Amino acid sequence: MRIEILTLFPEMCESVLSESIIGRARKQGKVQIHCRNIRDYTQDKHKRVDDAPYGGGFGMVMQCGPIADCYRAVCADWGVTPKLFYMSPQGKVLTQAKAKELSESESFVLLCGHYEGVDERVLEALEAEEISIGDYVLTGGELPALVLCDAVVRLLPGVLAGPGAYEGESHYPQDNTPPLLEHAQYTRPPVWEGREVPAILIGGNHALQEKWRKEDSLRRTQTKRPDLLQ
Ligand code: SAM
Repeated sequence: MRIEILTLFPEMCESVLSESIIGRARKQGKVQIHCRNIRDYTQDKHKRVDDAPYGGGFGMVMQCGPIADCYRAVCADWGVTPKLFYMSPQGKVLTQAKAKELSESESFVLLCGHYEGVDERVLEALEAEEISIGDYVLTGGELPALVLCDAVVRLLPGVLAGPGAYEGESHYPQDNTPPLLEHAQYTRPPVWEGREVPAILIGGNHALQEKWRKEDSLRRTQTKRPDLLQ
């Protein structure tokens, strides 16, 4: 898989993408992630990429030209036209199902906005799909892009121990049931400050343990996120 992040702050993205599981997956060649500085594509002699909004209002708006040229340079380098996603608080909120869908694609490009956002016309021209990471507003699209990369890369073959490592996790899309929250987790010691691990998990009856996990998963979803069951 190949992911390109279009950003004004490539170092900010690189510092996160070089660490932990994503960093290892990149080193092992399981995913290629590259950050491209939109500022490198401005024609402005002062390297500006933004201007005041037409019609007045607060802040600055990122201009069409540098974003379009940056994206088109990716297409030229790759020899394909990858789907463009604009990280935006106005998009559909990212779900595990969307992360799974993206993990099955060959390549995509993430556009990180800043300031008041980006000129609408470039989103139309490049047919960008907007993705949000939640109903709140951040200063830039870099953290959302990194969240999306993390959610997608951990689902790629060979990145985690195997599908068992994520298929039973919270929110993973299931065939016949709505996605549930994962059951409670416990580790040693069996008693901590008077609190005991459920006895069934300590015995060796795997069938009963599996039944307990399923029931606990449903119980927790009903209690914590009843909206998921509707
Ligand atoms: N003026 C815009 C609005 O009200 O819809 C918000 C712009 S925000 C301050 C700057 C940039 O941060 C956006 O262009 C977007 O790339 C990113 N951003 C902010 N919140 C986000 C969210 N919840 N999900 C994804 N991206 C977000």
